[in-house]
Amino acid sequence: ATMPPLLSAIANAGRHGVLVKSAVVMERLGQVDAVALDKTGTLTEGTPRVTDIRSLAASGLSQDEVLRLAAAAEHPSEHPLARAVVDAARTRDLDIPPVRDFTSAPGTGVTATVDGRTVAVGSPARLLDGGSHPAAAVAERLENEGRTAVLVTLDGTPVGVLGIADRLREGAAATVTALTALAGTTPLLVTGDNPRAAARLADEVGITDVRAGLLPQDKVSAVQDLERAGRRVLVVGDGVNDAPALAAAHTGVAMGRAGSDLALETADAVVVRDELAAVPTVVGLSRRARRLVA
Ligand code: ADP
Ligand code: MG
Repeated sequence: ATMPPLLSAIANAGRHGVLVKSAVVMERLGQVDAVALDKTGTLTEGTPRVTDIRSLAASGLSQDEVLRLAAAAEHPSEHPLARAVVDAARTRDLDIPPVRDFTSAPGTGVTATVDGRTVAVGSPARLLDGGSHPAAAVAERLENEGRTAVLVTLDGTPVGVLGIADRLREGAAATVTALTALAGTTPLLVTGDNPRAAARLADEVGITDVRAGLLPQDKVSAVQDLERAGRRVLVVGDGVNDAPALAAAHTGVAMGRAGSDLALETADAVVVRDELAAVPTVVGLSRRARRLVA
């Protein structure tokens, strides 16, 4: 028998490095007319590096001490920012002490007990809760340079700020252009990162609609608002924080290489070879297959 068009399209998507989980998904991919893209790990490579270490004068800690505490608290986390912090500590030959009581809050950060004291590492906006601590100004300066700033607190008191930078994926701007053409609408950038770094990156790839500082549930709301307006939304993401939006979307696609297990399991399709350009390619494959079915 000749292969039904949607099954051929699945095989073809596989050759482009995309695992499409079913024929229904293959069909739905071509129906989308709106796109929501995550930033970290989706439009960026997802292998960020620590570029700046600031210890707050009042803390009395050295840069290395700030980094050591942060790395200890981040050690159990699978978040790309956590890996950047741990790598920076290793590069400086710092010993990373064991921790207890580790917890993580998607879109916010991590907390753990280090040397009997509570260390939190995460979003300055969320940890400072809008308060006007000197640390907020340090973070804002880094964010204006396009960095993701993470605050380090010790027993609830800010002691330092780390600046972290990630590279744009190769071809990200071209992919945004291709998705815009296929969907007929400009994509939305949905990110948990700060608005300043998000705006800079959006500018580089040609996205004008930027939603920053979002919690996982806020990403779901952004998708649902579009769906209620009659749109069929394609969500592309990689993190645990993207899983609810991937599930809520008409079609959810996860970036595979650095993607979290939860995102890969929740998504309808996985970009296994990690090439963002494959996303518009499979939307095109779906459109062609659907014309053959019809
Ligand atoms: P994105 O939506 O861009 O992929 P996330 O929702 O994963 O980003 O993270 C949003 C923000 O939450 C980060 O910019 C950071 O401030 C904070 N954050 C989340 N997880 C961590 C972590 N493990 N360490 C430090 N900060 C974190
Ligand atoms: Mg992400």
